[in-house]
Amino acid sequence: MAIRLNSAHLAGSGMVSARTRARMIDRLREQGISNSEVLAVMEQVPRHLFVDEALQHKAYDDTSLPIGHGQTISQPYIVARMTELALGAGARDKVLEIGTGCGYQATILAQLFKTVYSIERIGALAQASRHRLAELGVHNARLRHADGSKGVPEAAPFDVILFAAAAPISPEHLIAQLAPHGRLIVPVGQHSQELVLICQENGNWVESRLEPVRFVPLLGGVAH
Ligand code: SAH
Repeated sequence: MAIRLNSAHLAGSGMVSARTRARMIDRLREQGISNSEVLAVMEQVPRHLFVDEALQHKAYDDTSLPIGHGQTISQPYIVARMTELALGAGARDKVLEIGTGCGYQATILAQLFKTVYSIERIGALAQASRHRLAELGVHNARLRHADGSKGVPEAAPFDVILFAAAAPISPEHLIAQLAPHGRLIVPVGQHSQELVLICQENGNWVESRLEPVRFVPLLGGVAH
């Protein structure tokens, strides 16, 4: 697979060896992730470069980690699961992510889709991710500092719209920004959340509730 990353970063740093990353992949397989493209991409993207140096030794553990501003990088399993669901759309032209955070999920998507749009409401995170992705050589992700809850109508239709933050109710208004074969992947709920997939079956948009998840909440407006 052609990885769209600056190759200088692929080897990883000494402390975080290829073996650590391979162990994460073995664990993802045990957790039921079977898509070989998803596994190959996650084996190559240096997840430790998306967190603070002091947390790098935990970057490949099966856990979410703080990224500042009260936000978190999602655990590897959930990134893999959402990416696998995203590939189920079949087409790989445009994906929209709402909640860039540190840019890890956006970087994974950028290896698999032609163009990634990713929106982050916290300016400092958006700015840091812009730098990080440029540094890594990810050139097919368009990052924006904005409230993503209304999507990006001017760039629609998307093959996939993926929320990295939990919506209080299913954001059905975004179906209008999906291609006919498109998929909306979104954690829904407040105290207890479920991962929801919305896609067409026999000409109707159908919502499936997949599994319990835990995400930070989707918030309105922008912050610095
Ligand atoms: N995708 C990240 C996870 C980020 S956590 C990863 O790869 O790990 C979710 C992010 O969603 C947070 O950074 C939060 O600030 C952002 N967010 C919450 N509500 C938002 C909104 N309405 N628009 C854009 N970003 C939002």
